[in-house]
Amino acid sequence: MTFDSDSGPDGGGESRTPSVVDRLRAPRGARIPFSVEFSPPRDADAEARLWRAVREFERLGPAFVSMTYGAGGSTRDRTVRVTGQLAQETTLLPVAHLTAVGHSIDELRAMVGAYADRGITNILALRGDPPGNPLGEWTRHPEGLEYAEELVRLVRDLGDFHVGVASFPEGHHRSPDLEHDTRYLVHKLRAGAEYSITQMFFDVEDYLRLRDRVVAYDPEQGAKPIIPEIMPITSLRTARRSLELSGSRLPAALEERLVRAAGNGPEEDRAAVREVGIDVATEMAERLIAEGAPCLHFITLNFARATREVLARLGIAVPTAV
Ligand SMILES: Cc1cc2nc3c(=O)[nH]c(=O)nc-3n(C[C@H](O)[C@H](O)[C@H](O)COP(=O)(O)OP(=O)(O)OC[C@H]3O[C@@H](n4cnc5c(N)ncnc54)[C@H](O)[C@@H]3O)c2cc1C
Repeated sequence: MTFDSDSGPDGGGESRTPSVVDRLRAPRGARIPFSVEFSPPRDADAEARLWRAVREFERLGPAFVSMTYGAGGSTRDRTVRVTGQLAQETTLLPVAHLTAVGHSIDELRAMVGAYADRGITNILALRGDPPGNPLGEWTRHPEGLEYAEELVRLVRDLGDFHVGVASFPEGHHRSPDLEHDTRYLVHKLRAGAEYSITQMFFDVEDYLRLRDRVVAYDPEQGAKPIIPEIMPITSLRTARRSLELSGSRLPAALEERLVRAAGNGPEEDRAAVREVGIDVATEMAERLIAEGAPCLHFITLNFARATREVLARLGIAVPTAV
């Protein structure tokens, strides 16, 4: 079974779907490209909210948008449907995350086919985490894959797909050290991944060191874009939960700043936390631009406002009325 990116598996399409790397190379004047991450909506209300964010971002012209992938049958069906709608009913270029969790190789092939049927040829190939407890013990599906590198090969073997992978500025929590972490990131790139998107981080030095490590390990692979992921914090509680799930670290000085902003009341002062979060995301983005990052990828939690404010402060996109 192979699929052709001109057309999906049926053939007969006219123009090739651009890849993420094509989009990063497209001329945009002096402006850095940006992209955003959405997550699959859980119900109809969440889906309506997602579409409001989608339409707002459509006006701001992201290089691409990515849709995360979770375990669970009904969410999975909705994920495929909504990502397909992004490809077919908007001007956006969707990247579908795909994980090996709980899937046999045949099921993974079928998922890639379902995306190809909907015109989606950009895939972020991930291993995923054990359901329920991301830090728990990883168990491979008996007929599935062990590492993301194998998924990169599988997707590439299925046709003309453009594949990205995950990278970890602080090192993946399962990597015993940064040398091991760099080695296997480079293996994923050598297997045919065209770029990586990082885990969120809050110390730009961690991103710069990751970039240096990859270049030092393999200059050819080090030339591939490492797209930094930024989370504009709008709630301390949500940020702590995301950090717990991702294994990323909040530097002590930033945590102190956020805790102070949150105050001592029964509810955190969301407006004050948000102000710090937007300031920090903007400062990080400015430094990343100065350091030559290829793109800025924002975690949106399916809300447009915080990212839009950061983009406006950077002069990348002008805010529109809510
Ligand atoms: C940008 C981004 C998007 C994400 N999106 C999602 C999502 O949509 N859904 C979701 O469930 N999760 C998502 N994740 C989380 C991701 O699935 C987890 O972090 C997972 O634990 C690692 O995935 P990976 O693809 O990096 O795995 P891998 O590259 O397989 O690495 C996992 C660990 O194994 C090590 N390793 C790799 N190959 C070998 C080898 N041959 N021998 C020994 N060790 C090896 C690596 O160094 C690492 O420590 C995302 C992460 C990022 C950064």
